[in-house]
Amino acid sequence: MGMTITEKILARHAGKTTVKPGENIWVNVDVLMSNDVIAPQMIGVFEEQFGKDAPLWDADKVVMIPDHYIFTADEKAHRNIDIMREFVSRKGIKHFYDADFLPAGFKGMPSPYPDPQKTSYMGVCHVTLPQKGHTRPGEILLGTDSHTCTHGAFGQFATGIGSTDGAFVMGTGKLWLKVPPSMKFIFNGEMPEYLMAKDLILHIIGRIGCDGATYRAMEIVGETIKSLNIDERMTICNMAIEAGGKNGIIPADDTTIQYVKSRTDKPFEIFESDKDADYELVMEFYTPELEPVVACPHSPGNVATVKEKSDVKIDRCYIGSCTGGKTTDFLAAAKLLIGKTVKVDTYIVPATTEVDADLDRCQVDGKSLREIFISAGCKIGPASCAACLGGPKDTFGRANEPITIVSTTNRNFPGRMGHKDAQIYLASPLTAAASALVGKITDPREFIR
Ligand code: SF4
Repeated sequence: MGMTITEKILARHAGKTTVKPGENIWVNVDVLMSNDVIAPQMIGVFEEQFGKDAPLWDADKVVMIPDHYIFTADEKAHRNIDIMREFVSRKGIKHFYDADFLPAGFKGMPSPYPDPQKTSYMGVCHVTLPQKGHTRPGEILLGTDSHTCTHGAFGQFATGIGSTDGAFVMGTGKLWLKVPPSMKFIFNGEMPEYLMAKDLILHIIGRIGCDGATYRAMEIVGETIKSLNIDERMTICNMAIEAGGKNGIIPADDTTIQYVKSRTDKPFEIFESDKDADYELVMEFYTPELEPVVACPHSPGNVATVKEKSDVKIDRCYIGSCTGGKTTDFLAAAKLLIGKTVKVDTYIVPATTEVDADLDRCQVDGKSLREIFISAGCKIGPASCAACLGGPKDTFGRANEPITIVSTTNRNFPGRMGHKDAQIYLASPLTAAASALVGKITDPREFIR
């Protein structure tokens, strides 16, 4: 029996020739990432268990990145960043994307970076790591954040871990893992211009449910997937966790290689599933037949077609996060918003400072994305997780009232974006932009002729 891409990567990192689903193995980790929400706890566990002066397994393989609670006056949020800084400097961690506009011990709301291209700060971890060349095919990348599965878009094994496991990896470079069984999802046919990767992953979750892939490797393949750029592939793997997946993975191809080589000189290895590999489930979709969809409150598995929900009035549109705040997401939204005015409050939050700079660099019909959004009446915030997970009350775009929001984020559990009674509909950037123009959940085909 052959092996899947996930099994091959795990076997290689366990020093074995084969592994089987259900087998427990020790793996050597290539990259460990942590952010301002979990790093302070992880550092605490590390110092308690290994000792305050203990060395890291490899300071060059640890990436520390403040991204969640940055633009807030909350003092505890600022303290978390200070804890990271002190640890990074004491341990000689090189890859630290510091919020350099927020001085140590600062009190109050920080002013954002004046220029997105002149700051060490990057923003959301899952978009930063690929942009900075930390995400490479064939490797194992672990992060203390559940959406670390995003990085599977590069043909690597990537998954989220807790602060205790993170501390263990920081001290040893190893993790005890159970090999997950694999499921294969195949998308064939050409991608219609009214669909985005968000629709594809919501179709999967709508079919199998939020626990449909619990502790499974979700391998996503097919000619449609091969036609997608890296941003779109990341959107799909980002939401593997919303189906309970241990990891999402898309085999690396020329698109991946080109992207990775433009970001790093480090060598990498490409793995492919064997033809006779075993899958617990194989599910096929013919992409041209798929409709734009939304995930209705309060679950990413509560999927309906956009048309079925076209009578739902919205109060706000939110386009941002690691799922829907990448350059491709804003290009798609701008194509619909150009020359028009939004009918509801519309928040634009670039995932990273690189994406923020792209709002000026990228154009639609001779206008920059920033110009298009501003003249459409949108509010643009600095790069960060912002209201994707609510955050402190002064967070940009946070739902402080029980309002209805169409959002390009990945979770809509009660309270996820702030108020516990807010109604969050998860959608593609195209659907979000169309809905912003009408004030109701709207099929993007109404604006794409
Ligand atoms: S943007 Fe949202 S989902 Fe992504 S890392 Fe930040 S809080 Fe998590």
